Amino acid sequence: MRHSWRIGRIAGIDINVDSSWFIIYFLLTWMLATSYFPQSLPSYRGAFYWVISLLTSLLVFASVLIHELAHSLVAIKQGDTVRSITLFILGGVAQITEEPKDPVSEFVMAIAGPLVSFFLGSFFFMLSLLLLGVNDPLLVMISYLGLINIILGVFNLLPGFPMDGGRVLRSIVWKITGDLRKATQIASFSGRAFSFLLISIGIFEILQGSLSGLWLVFIGWFLHSAAVKGYHQVLMRTRLNNVTAEDLMVEDLKTVPGHVKVQELVDVHILKKKERVFIVVDNGKMKGIVCLEDIKTIPRDKWKSTDVNEIMIPREEMEIVSSDTDGETILAKLMSRNIRQVFVMDGNSIRGVISSGDIQRYMQLRSELDKK
Ligand SMILES: [Zn+2]
Repeated sequence: MRHSWRIGRIAGIDINVDSSWFIIYFLLTWMLATSYFPQSLPSYRGAFYWVISLLTSLLVFASVLIHELAHSLVAIKQGDTVRSITLFILGGVAQITEEPKDPVSEFVMAIAGPLVSFFLGSFFFMLSLLLLGVNDPLLVMISYLGLINIILGVFNLLPGFPMDGGRVLRSIVWKITGDLRKATQIASFSGRAFSFLLISIGIFEILQGSLSGLWLVFIGWFLHSAAVKGYHQVLMRTRLNNVTAEDLMVEDLKTVPGHVKVQELVDVHILKKKERVFIVVDNGKMKGIVCLEDIKTIPRDKWKSTDVNEIMIPREEMEIVSSDTDGETILAKLMSRNIRQVFVMDGNSIRGVISSGDIQRYMQLRSELDKK
């Protein structure tokens, strides 16, 4: 089960903490309190190490948050929507809804995070110079933060998609070739190569008896699946580019009168006609739409007493596109609003319905035909 909590809002972006984040927060604090601080400041006591470590860990994740904010603010400036930034076990991730429109925007957005990390790192290092001989604990803490920010910047610049460096690589190949799909393919390939490298180093470390190798295996595995997923998303987008609602929609929707009971809808219409979506009509006029999923929202013992009118999605609330809307827009609509289907209407007449399942089936058919 995944849980996350909203801890605040910055520039209209929800800041969330995933439950898995507590694991890494604890691990880092534990490592700092039992090894880093006792080694760097041997003359202090146990409780002090824990207090300063809890604080240092918090500042590490504040740095991660600032890195993600840098990406997000650039994205917002470019006209994208950023819903949230979530801190989780592997760091932070910003939910940016639109894919970059051109190579230059992508480049700027990707490089912003590492640049800010480098800036923070240098800032902490300079601060630590001022603290030399003034306050030892603060000095040790600040130089640790400096180091972490530099590492954060460098690691993110590894040229494997979907890391920042991979996005930078993609934007450059995209700029040169003009082909987003090809650029993503190359960046994703390099991302997978890096993930295998990380996994190999991790396994090597484990064989040497160091359990920290597990961590590298974990990160490598995560990057691998993200690289594959990122490529598939782009593939899907480009394939949907020259497809319209007309191609994707399921046509010939059956109608049902609004005043029939839900029980009748199930027995007579759904089970007999083997359909999942019906247009609700009264006096020949379309009033809304009813789907199998709407029926599941009411208990079975209410089926005999509830009208279809009461459970339908009224026309005003239906998500509507026209038959010439392109596939990419439809997919984005389905995904970003988390809705089950969009309806295709030309003027007042309903032409069909499209669910994400319909898009997947279409893509499946297309890719099988492409193989031939
Ligand atoms: Zn980044």
